[in-house]
Amino acid sequence: MHGTQKIGANGHLYIGGIDTSELAREFGTPLYVYDTALIKEKIKAFKDAFAKYRQINWQVAYASKAFSTLAMIQLVRDSGLSLDVVSGGELYTALKAGFPPEKIHFHGNNKSEDELSLALDVKIGAIIADNFNELDLLERMCARRKQKMAVLLRVTPGVEAHTHEFIMTGHDDSKFGFNLDNGMAEKAVNFALRAEHLELKGIHCHIGSQIFETEGFVQAIRTICRYADQWKNELGFQMGVLNVGGGFGIKYTENDHPLAVKQYIDQIVRTVEEECGNHALPVPEIWVEPGRSIVGEAGTTLYTIGSSKDIPGIRKYLAVDGGMADNIRPALYQAKYDAIVATRADEAADETVTISGKCCESGDILIKEASVPRTCENGDLLAVFCTGAYGYSMASHYNRLTLPAVVFVENGEASLVVRRETYADLIRLDLPLKTLSAHD
Ligand SMILES: *Cc1c(COP(=O)(O)O)cnc(C)c1O
Repeated sequence: MHGTQKIGANGHLYIGGIDTSELAREFGTPLYVYDTALIKEKIKAFKDAFAKYRQINWQVAYASKAFSTLAMIQLVRDSGLSLDVVSGGELYTALKAGFPPEKIHFHGNNKSEDELSLALDVKIGAIIADNFNELDLLERMCARRKQKMAVLLRVTPGVEAHTHEFIMTGHDDSKFGFNLDNGMAEKAVNFALRAEHLELKGIHCHIGSQIFETEGFVQAIRTICRYADQWKNELGFQMGVLNVGGGFGIKYTENDHPLAVKQYIDQIVRTVEEECGNHALPVPEIWVEPGRSIVGEAGTTLYTIGSSKDIPGIRKYLAVDGGMADNIRPALYQAKYDAIVATRADEAADETVTISGKCCESGDILIKEASVPRTCENGDLLAVFCTGAYGYSMASHYNRLTLPAVVFVENGEASLVVRRETYADLIRLDLPLKTLSAHD
């Protein structure tokens, strides 16, 4: 159970003080339900973790690719955080949500001229430049517009963090950023320092996702500070900002043991201060970019259980009315989730079943081994926990399934923030066949 989830006297799962069976009745299933009190709590944890370091300037930017809709961006806006976008579409959403452009940072390894134009038009806070094509294009665009733009350079520090382990890769094979070890990053620093219209503010790295240790961050900070010292001496570079990215882990299942937000932040701040001390560098502003750790645990997907197939001696399948179209992560990364039968939350979960989706792929399995009450039947509701990040944002129309609705719940009130797609929505961009003139 996460946040405000509770089991009510009627044996149903409640979120934000509302019976999930009421939510399903009112809004239909599949349904993404967000516990907004928990989102606010996670945001506050990041702000509090930094606030105690009065000597440090910092920014926490919500990585909106994890879950971007108008209402979510407005919630983030009201919380005072900054925002990361990685496409024109995410930037457009942020602007339509009334997010202050000066607090938006733009990422991506292949930003188009149109996307950069939009960013320059509205004067966003910073562009995280990823490659030489982009630096060159950006400088030319800014020169044409007689406009300056703040940039950070994304570097690959030769550290990869995966949950329990981090790996020093030595040299990097990544589609993102400027490599440190082969001189690419130094060339980029040199270019950005000379480019008349680019203000080189600092360095960015992002070392992975669902990270449960601080060691990867420590290694990345050490490496970057060593280079920053070298570039200071050789090129006159001043690292005004050190952005260490996101990737803070969350508890999808009982087997996940993430650190508390403040443990990550304490270690990051301490390491930056220590390394800057070692190299006699001024302590830069520290930026982080949490996505999953802001919204992941706050999201629950409600499904209606439909058909079942019992193969004696092999396994029993329970099928739900969604699947890989609303949550691609199990199929894509073998991601693990926990679930509960929301209409029998007080009954013993005494049977192991496989939860399958309804898409035409054998791989459309949401949970390989889920424990459910033996009594569970067609029409019961299944609640899959921790689907708030990269669920809706990665949803597809495979099999022409309509995208589910999204509802925010808090203090007994539900508010629909994304309506359910209709069949008419599905064909709104389609054009009918035209008779083509024959060429033969
Ligand atoms: C994806 C991403 C994030 C957010 O990652 P989470 O695992 O959701 O915290 C932050 N920064 C960058 C550059 C990213 O690509």
